[in-house]
Amino acid sequence: MSQQGYVAAPPYSQAQPGMGGYQGGFGSGPAQPLYGHYGGPPQAFSAPQTGMMKSPVSSAAGMPPPPVSSQYNPNVQQNGTHPQRYPAPPAASAAYGQPPQSPYNSMASPGTPATQQLTNQMSAVNLGSYAPGPMQSPLLPTNSVAQQPFQSSPPPAMGQPQMPPGPQSPHVSQQMTPQMSSQQSLPGSMPLAGPPMAGPQMAGPPMAGPPMAGPPMAGPPMAGPPMAGMGRPFNGPPPQGPGGFQQPGPGAAGPPGYPQQAGQFGGHMAGPQQGMPGAFPGAPSALAGPPQKKLDPDSIPSITQVIENDQVKQGGKVFSTNIRGQVPPLVTTDFTAQDQGNASPRFIRCTTYSLPCTADLAKQCHVPLASIIKPFANLQTNETPLYVVNHGETGPIRCNRCKAYMCPYMQFIDGGRRYQCGFCNCVNEVPVFYFQHLDHMGRRVDFYERPELSLGSYEFVATLDYCKNNKPPNPPAYIFMIDVSYNNIKSGLVKLICDELKTLLEKLPREEGMESSAIKVGFVTYNKVLHFYNVKSALAQPQMMVVSDTAEMFVPLLDGFLVNYQDSRAVIYNLLDQIPDMFADTNESETVFAPVIQAGVEAFKAAECSGKLFIFHSSMPTAEAPGKLKNRDDKKLVNTEKEKTLFQPQKGVYEQLSKDCVAQGCCVELFLFPSQYVDLATMADVPTHTGGSVYKYNNFQVETDGEHFLRDLRKDVQKSIGFDAIMRVRTSTGFRATDFFGAVHMNNTTDIEMAAVDCDKAVTVEFKHDDTLSEETGALMQCALLYTTINGQRRLRIHNISLKCSAQLSELYMNCETDSLINFFAKSAYRAILNQPLKNVREILVSQTAHMLACYRKNCASPSAASQLILPDAMKVFPVYMNSLMKSAPLVGSTELSTDDRAHQRLSVMAMGVEDTQLLLYPRLIPLHNLDVSSEALPAPVRCSEERLAESGMFLLENGHSIFLWLGQASPPDLIQSIFNLPSLAHLQGHMCALPELDNPLSKKVRSIIDGLLEKRPNSMKLVIVRQKDKPEMLFRQFLVEDKGLHGGASYMDFLCYVHQEIRQLLT
Ligand SMILES: [Zn+2]
Repeated sequence: MSQQGYVAAPPYSQAQPGMGGYQGGFGSGPAQPLYGHYGGPPQAFSAPQTGMMKSPVSSAAGMPPPPVSSQYNPNVQQNGTHPQRYPAPPAASAAYGQPPQSPYNSMASPGTPATQQLTNQMSAVNLGSYAPGPMQSPLLPTNSVAQQPFQSSPPPAMGQPQMPPGPQSPHVSQQMTPQMSSQQSLPGSMPLAGPPMAGPQMAGPPMAGPPMAGPPMAGPPMAGPPMAGMGRPFNGPPPQGPGGFQQPGPGAAGPPGYPQQAGQFGGHMAGPQQGMPGAFPGAPSALAGPPQKKLDPDSIPSITQVIENDQVKQGGKVFSTNIRGQVPPLVTTDFTAQDQGNASPRFIRCTTYSLPCTADLAKQCHVPLASIIKPFANLQTNETPLYVVNHGETGPIRCNRCKAYMCPYMQFIDGGRRYQCGFCNCVNEVPVFYFQHLDHMGRRVDFYERPELSLGSYEFVATLDYCKNNKPPNPPAYIFMIDVSYNNIKSGLVKLICDELKTLLEKLPREEGMESSAIKVGFVTYNKVLHFYNVKSALAQPQMMVVSDTAEMFVPLLDGFLVNYQDSRAVIYNLLDQIPDMFADTNESETVFAPVIQAGVEAFKAAECSGKLFIFHSSMPTAEAPGKLKNRDDKKLVNTEKEKTLFQPQKGVYEQLSKDCVAQGCCVELFLFPSQYVDLATMADVPTHTGGSVYKYNNFQVETDGEHFLRDLRKDVQKSIGFDAIMRVRTSTGFRATDFFGAVHMNNTTDIEMAAVDCDKAVTVEFKHDDTLSEETGALMQCALLYTTINGQRRLRIHNISLKCSAQLSELYMNCETDSLINFFAKSAYRAILNQPLKNVREILVSQTAHMLACYRKNCASPSAASQLILPDAMKVFPVYMNSLMKSAPLVGSTELSTDDRAHQRLSVMAMGVEDTQLLLYPRLIPLHNLDVSSEALPAPVRCSEERLAESGMFLLENGHSIFLWLGQASPPDLIQSIFNLPSLAHLQGHMCALPELDNPLSKKVRSIIDGLLEKRPNSMKLVIVRQKDKPEMLFRQFLVEDKGLHGGASYMDFLCYVHQEIRQLLT
């Protein structure tokens, strides 16, 4: 397996793979293996306990008497569970037709309303005659102490890699240029055609010139222990720095090991240099040297070309998952997935689809073995949704030993009476009700009638054993929590939110076939105190209850707080109309934050449900309350040993809050509207451990950012999602899951807990060997996700995938997926910077890149001159992505970047799937000036480099988070006229954030392209229009990732040269 020095090794010894099961009550008590699942208790539908509150009960003044039950009406009828009859597929096709309607109707969610509770710390008022209640501000100083939230990194563990001569690649090596070649592993793949490269050898320092320095460092120079014999002593700029990286010192042929505190980086970071805003941080290289003969950029591997080739080869086609270890089309390719026994690549992608058989081979090649799992991924409209299998009271069939769920990898034997588990080899009896005869191939005759025997992905209806306290869950709830402090009222944000909710609540997600959503809704406003609203349908006016004791947060009312939107529409409308006016004259600028989340958790606890909090917040919480924060932003820490503290959340209150949220299935979505530093690293801590997202709108203005924010909100509210989720990844013998990255919480070493998981959230799982893998049987993986549906049903979603195993490293390299590799590296590096200096992390990334490529060169490539850079075909654009990752804001170490923005990007990436990291690290740059307006197709993107821009051109650039329309300074007037209705570029001014709707083909086409992209991406984006050579163009240029970084970092060409040199060192 990979030996990334910075990837923290799990501090635990892993349990036997796949042992144990889901515990009965999540979040309460230690997990207990769930054995003997068969014949579990019949489903009983006892009413939930009355909500328990921690505060004494009293009656709210002005409140009508509580009706007996309006909140948790058992208005959902329940059918007895029974085994599903799975219809046979159409004879003509092995694929399934339309999925059957789920026979599984919602479980009853009976219950009596919990008691209304009030205390003397709270006042209740009718909104019709609103007057602020008594407010107290109890002092509760927080004792947050900054600590490292994650386990510290492992000790140095890397030595000189053993590189025994490996098998020669059976594939023909086509050397395209004198200096570079790409190993063509796959017939039909794109040769790196290009003219022979004149100019300097790749190995040599491509540029010479004055050393670049980063921003001046005001802090004291870091004085770590000197590196004796370590890979890269950092003693100032060499006279000729190779391509943006430091010159390797003696002994650099070995990996840099694990330079925990190595080097006096900083010392060389002298002063600002003319002409460059910042060099590659920590690198004494010379990037701004005198002009020199350039290599032809067309001769180095191009991502856009790779994307285009795959689209030509596999675009519009069906990808069937019937072959073990088949590499899927790229994430950028438009294809249709057909499940024929392995999970669709939309659910699971892997860094390689052929695992090395032994740990030694894995160690040797340094290629990380990982899967990126997106359990709720959206499918295309022409792809079959998951079938739901219902085994009734017995529940899903599982291996007695490893608890793996019935799947295509179970081998039926003994005339169908027993089956051997593909994961642990245990032989199990087939339950009587499940018995079926085998055909002459040894396959069950009902193979095609049962999704769990023939498909890679499907769902099981979970029995009560899988429910908290053995009770069926209630439908989830969404609580909207609006910061009504001065800034948000003044900016018009509060009114914008309230107006939008009126229409948005009509669109809450609902189960297919249901007339309305089962999701309940609730409303809270807050500044220093919290206001809860009773919006019970029986009320003429909503009622407000104020809780000012933020130290002991409780929910002052249950009945009427979480309601069915359809029932309470009139009262909710009334409330949403009144909120902006109620606080119109507020002077309150202080806010609380942790108590707001706590209130949500308490509400869900009392209602015995899971759900989502939508928090709309603008400032750092400075009011006296738990979780109070203070400004700890310090640019002097950038590029020092302590830079990591900028990314570390404050511990204490928020850490505990995350645990409480996960235990209750409370997902936090945070919409931030900051005008200055808010300590995002801490504020985002709970959202990013509960499956939530953080949206950020700097200096929010309704006119320019309103639509951008509303698009995000609409997408988020309507996302497909599962709640109170717990995921387990089981593997066949010989390897196991060892590390996990995502918006998740881990209480133990195997259960991945997520308060919620939506269609855009992915978990990256790393694997390690613990034995030899067999080429014959391959490697199996089963991801089981237990969750609650939006209707309040407990289900298990199963994704299975089988991979090849090989003793030949060439097989591994041939079956790699670069986009998945970079997803893994991004997440592991972004986690590592919590514990290590950025410089170390960057060095390890380079070293790892060089090792992966050197191992290929040594063991798989045809013999060739040392001056040639030889890349495996499947990884030929890996260096572009890696270089872009190293230049990304979290890793770049520049004082010009906002600490909050860096923390935000770091945390966002941790939950991303492969599509999102691919796009983020290599934006689309689309020429629009020569559009074929009659064509449906998107114009082919060009490489992200300034060289590809044209002065008379118009380009769209987007990376999933930002979108720019760039206009060359010589843009033809007719183009400007068509798009902007202006006579020339000079007339364009102001902060336009949308294009005017003009009635001409070009305008329509450009707008439809932009709308299409906004629709397609998980996040909305704010259109920024930039003119060439205008100041805002700098914002745009930082996304031209093949060029030198604006805030430091090498160009792609320089990076490639440097990596090549590293490879040569490793091979000598
Ligand atoms: Zn088993």
